[in-house]
Amino acid sequence: MIALEHELKAHFGARLETARPLADLTSFQIGGPADLFVTVESDADLMTAMAAAHRYQIPAMCLGAGTNLLVSDRGVRGLVVKLGDRFSRMVIDGLNVTVGAAMQFGAMVEAVVDRGLAGLEFGEGIPGTVGGGLVMNAGAFGGEMARVVTLVHGVTADGAARALNKHEVNFAYRRTDLPPRFVITRVDFELAYGEREELRARVIDLRTRRAARQPRGLPNAGSVFKNPPGNFAGRLLESVGLKGARMGGAAFSGQHANFIVNLGGARAEEVRALIDLARSRVMESTGVSLEPEVRLIGEW
Ligand SMILES: Cc1cc2nc3c(=O)[nH]c(=O)nc-3n(C[C@H](O)[C@H](O)[C@H](O)COP(=O)(O)OP(=O)(O)OC[C@H]3O[C@@H](n4cnc5c(N)ncnc54)[C@H](O)[C@@H]3O)c2cc1C
Repeated sequence: MIALEHELKAHFGARLETARPLADLTSFQIGGPADLFVTVESDADLMTAMAAAHRYQIPAMCLGAGTNLLVSDRGVRGLVVKLGDRFSRMVIDGLNVTVGAAMQFGAMVEAVVDRGLAGLEFGEGIPGTVGGGLVMNAGAFGGEMARVVTLVHGVTADGAARALNKHEVNFAYRRTDLPPRFVITRVDFELAYGEREELRARVIDLRTRRAARQPRGLPNAGSVFKNPPGNFAGRLLESVGLKGARMGGAAFSGQHANFIVNLGGARAEEVRALIDLARSRVMESTGVSLEPEVRLIGEW
């Protein structure tokens, strides 16, 4: 680890941080430090960081906007990479749109709708980055990334540039099968022509529907569990009496049971205890196995 730190320090200078707390980089506002943390500003930077970590056999991962993550209280061992602002660009060429992985999902939706391009309206209100959205096959209201993505560009675990077509990405419900530690740098989409005013109206409609069903005001990471086939995680959690259930500073929202909220000072282990409790209670009383949508990362 020390050798990697020296090598990265020589290349990145003050951009390399050690023992960098991650709580403020997550929507849950929870989580311990990353051993090494660097913000990269170019493909070359990213390749350098990944290749060095690979050489020293130190684990590396990419952090998006942290809106789907529960980072452990002990933090993350190894290197955490964040894409800087230069990965937030968008190029539109007819129906083909290339978007940098660090661009905010909402900003992408707004920009394409403004250009009268259809296919991404479902993403209105999904927080996070385009890269995180790709990894999670983010979706809502019947739409998902899988339908509009053509190519995914990125850097492999050993620091090489690589592009994957949508079949290699293997999209499924809120998951993808990317190569281990693959870092996405930009995503190509193929959209359709639409009527700008109709697209705007659809976005406003989805915004209103989302506002009505999502808890507001307290830090959270969106839906905790995926919806099991033919059912709703929120309904199952409510049926076993967990709506509003509390563990230390964390609680299932009283507004929507499939959200865990940070009431203030929640620890990752408290959130995890609620997740474990919910899984065992729902399994016992309904036989359904709930699969977390939120990703647990770091040392547990
Ligand atoms: C209030 C709220 C509402 C939400 N609503 C929805 C919704 O309607 N639909 C939905 O699908 N999700 C929803 N989410 C969940 C979350 O916003 C999405 O999963 C989002 O796409 C995650 O993006 P992110 O940038 O925050 O990724 P992160 O949470 O930072 O990371 C998620 C995963 O992606 C990886 N990752 C991130 N960026 C990269 C990259 N560039 N290269 C490689 N790996 C990367 C991370 O390592 C991690 O494994 C919601 C969350 C909140 C807080």
